[in-house]
Amino acid sequence: MNVERVRSSFPILSKKINGSTLVYFDNSATTHKPVQVIDSVSQFYCQWNSNIHRGIHYLSEKATEMYESSRESVREFIGAENSSEIIFTRGTTEAINMVATCFGAVNVSEGDEIIISEMEHHSNLVPWQVLCKQKKATLKVIPITDNGILRADLLLSLITQKTKLIAITMVSNVLGTVNPVNAIIKTAHSFNIPVVLDAAQCIQHTKIDVKELDCDFVAFSGHKMYAQTGIGVLYGKKKWLDTISAYQYGGGMISSVDLFSTEFCSPPNKFEAGTPNISGALSLKAAIDFLNDIGLNSIEQHEKNLMEYATQKLMELEHITIYGPQTNRTGALSFNIDGISSYDVAALLDRMAIAVRSGTHCAQPLMKRLGIKNCIRASFALYNTNQEIDLFIQGIKRVLNLLT
Ligand code: PMP
Repeated sequence: MNVERVRSSFPILSKKINGSTLVYFDNSATTHKPVQVIDSVSQFYCQWNSNIHRGIHYLSEKATEMYESSRESVREFIGAENSSEIIFTRGTTEAINMVATCFGAVNVSEGDEIIISEMEHHSNLVPWQVLCKQKKATLKVIPITDNGILRADLLLSLITQKTKLIAITMVSNVLGTVNPVNAIIKTAHSFNIPVVLDAAQCIQHTKIDVKELDCDFVAFSGHKMYAQTGIGVLYGKKKWLDTISAYQYGGGMISSVDLFSTEFCSPPNKFEAGTPNISGALSLKAAIDFLNDIGLNSIEQHEKNLMEYATQKLMELEHITIYGPQTNRTGALSFNIDGISSYDVAALLDRMAIAVRSGTHCAQPLMKRLGIKNCIRASFALYNTNQEIDLFIQGIKRVLNLLT
C-alpha cells in the first residue's frame, strides 16, 4: 500500500494546526474524507440533485438510480444476499435503535432476556436497556477479563429459554478488542437466538461477509469509513426484516393508504420513511470504491503494523498503563499516564497538533470495569504512518517531562 499516495487524497491531512502539520489519531470518532468522497457529494448537488422514488422526470430517475446503486455497492461490500437487506440509516446508533424498536415490538415480552457485553458503546447498550425497561425484560451482560477480553466462555451460562437476542460489538471502540463473533453466532443459533453485530469499529479495518458470518443484523456508520456524516447501514436478514415492525411512518414506506389503514412497502423501503440522505448514500458508495481500490487486505496489514509499532513504542515509556489485550487488537489504543488527567494530556498534545481523544468514549460501564474515570485513546486509519506515531511518542515524552 502506497501511503503517501493514499494521503494525497485527503486534503485535510496537509492542514497546519498551531503551526504544525496535523497528526490525526481520532479516527475511531470519525475518519477524514478523501477527495473522491467529497467530489461525489458536490457532483450530486451540481448535477443530479433531485428527490428519489418520486418523480418520473430525468433528474429524479437519475438520483433514484444512483441511490439504489449505492445500496447495491453496500450489498456487495458486505456480501449480503439481496440489496433489500440493506437499509440506509443515519448511522450505527439509528441502526441499533431500529432493531431494538422494531424487533423489540414483536419479539420481546415480559420476562424475556437480552444479552450484551460489558464493553459496549452506549449506542449498543442504552437502546437494549430502555427496551428491557419498557417490556419488563432482563438485560444480561457477558463480562470481560481485566485485559479487556470478552468472557465468551460464559455465554452458555447466560443463555436461557427466555433469551431473545444477543447484541455484541465486533471491535471495542476503546480497547480495540476483536471479539469472537463467529463462535458467538454459532452458539446463539444453536438456540435459535438472533445476533446483532455492532460493526462501527470493524467495517473500516477488516473485511466483513455477512453470509459467512450468518449474522442476523449488522450496524455501521459511513463517517467512520471515510464517507459523509449522517449516513449508515443496517443489514438485516430478509426473514427478520419481513417480520419485524416498521420504524417510522410516512412517505416512501407505504404501498397504499386510506384514512384509517395503510399497507407498507416491503424492505428496504419499509424502513426508510421520508426523504433519505441521498448524497450521504452516494458518498458511502464513493468510500466503498475508494476502500476497494486500495484493498481491505492491504489496509488491514498496514493498520496492524501501525498498531504493533505504536503499542511497542508506548510500552517503552514509563508511567504508562495501556488498557486492553496486547494482541488481536485493531483500531484503538487506549492508555493513561499515571496520576495525570487524560484531558490534560489530550490538551497538551493538541498544542502540538496531535489529535487524540480523552474521556469515557461513550463506554462508561467499561470505564467502571477497568477501574478508571477516563482514558486517552489514539486510533488509527489507513492514512496514518509510523512517522506520525514517532511524533505522537515525542509528544507524550514532552507531556511526561512537563507533568511528572
Ligand atoms: N458503536 C461503536 C462501537 C462506536 O464506536 C460508535 C461511535 N463511536 C457507535 C456505535 C455510534 O456510532 P454513530 O455515532 O456513528 O451512530
